Amino acid sequence: MKKIAVLTSGGDAPGMNACLRAVVRSGIHYGFEVFGIRRGYQGMIEDDIYQMEEHDVSNIIQYGGTILRTARSKEFRTKEGRATAYKNLKKWGIEGVVVIGGDGSFTGANIFMKEYDDIAFVGCPGTIDNDLIGTDFTIGYDTATNTAMAAIDKIKDTADSHNRLFFIEVMGRDAGFIALRTAVATGAEAVLVPETRTDIDHLANRLDDFYRKKGKTSGIVIVAEGDEGGGASKVAEAVRQRFDRYEIKVAILGHIQRGGKPTCIERVRASQMGLEAVRALKGSKKGVMIGLIDNKVTHTPFEKAIKHHDDISPVLLEMVEILA
Ligand code: ATP
Repeated sequence: MKKIAVLTSGGDAPGMNACLRAVVRSGIHYGFEVFGIRRGYQGMIEDDIYQMEEHDVSNIIQYGGTILRTARSKEFRTKEGRATAYKNLKKWGIEGVVVIGGDGSFTGANIFMKEYDDIAFVGCPGTIDNDLIGTDFTIGYDTATNTAMAAIDKIKDTADSHNRLFFIEVMGRDAGFIALRTAVATGAEAVLVPETRTDIDHLANRLDDFYRKKGKTSGIVIVAEGDEGGGASKVAEAVRQRFDRYEIKVAILGHIQRGGKPTCIERVRASQMGLEAVRALKGSKKGVMIGLIDNKVTHTPFEKAIKHHDDISPVLLEMVEILA
């Protein structure tokens, strides 16, 4: 294998640039010609491909987003789209591709490899949601949780000053990792995640107890966007109907969780994963996602990585229960 390519796909995540930089620099270090594909699989189809040199990734490690841009490509979901993508890769002589993305991106890579087995795909887990099997942390998750934590700290100031109860919605799609981690880190009164059943009566009673028995005059409830309660606004409304001791407010943190400078640990992990992805291609591996479990590098087949996500930590859930 002489030529490899790299792309970022699906939702952007802070740390993608650090990973990308590592792929380009380590690829060149190991003697590959490295190509960048802009806008994920869409760029593969549109032949938006260019050779990258070391300087192309200078001074990007500290930035969120992705200099290659990203996309959700409908065309790549079609056989015809993938055939065009294949033709373009062959034209450039590209035999290996590092995909930095989430479960959808790896699903696409897997389907592609079943159709065209002479191109090797290796994945780096780039998603703020942390919803992949085979790694303790995905690229973007640490930064997103730190961003959410900083925002919630600010909301707590106003909640406290006005005796307000805030329902704060955080991202995570169908996973509750961002919600649970930020709930512990911000000392939230309660957290609602998709992985556990949401009982509004129980929540309202808990908040009532905090008011009457603990004398709390303000509070924070973190709601994961994928919780079956239906998001922070719906949950807040349901609680308001049962319980009127506090002034209830809603805040939806939204896309600020995707942006910003990656944290130190994010940059380190993303760089390591990028380097290991290149080493995997060099070692003729394919169809695997690079991960870090207990700080050790792992290779998880795409099929397994995308199936579902790890359970959320019962220890953290219990911490919210006991420490609030
Ligand atoms: P995030 O977790 O941040 O949303 P993701 O990688 O899961 O990232 P998706 O939009 O689900 O984001 O997937 C990225 C791209 O992968 C899609 O736009 C599409 O081009 C490709 N893809 C996803 N699923 C399939 C599929 N079943 N067949 C072919 N390609 C797919």
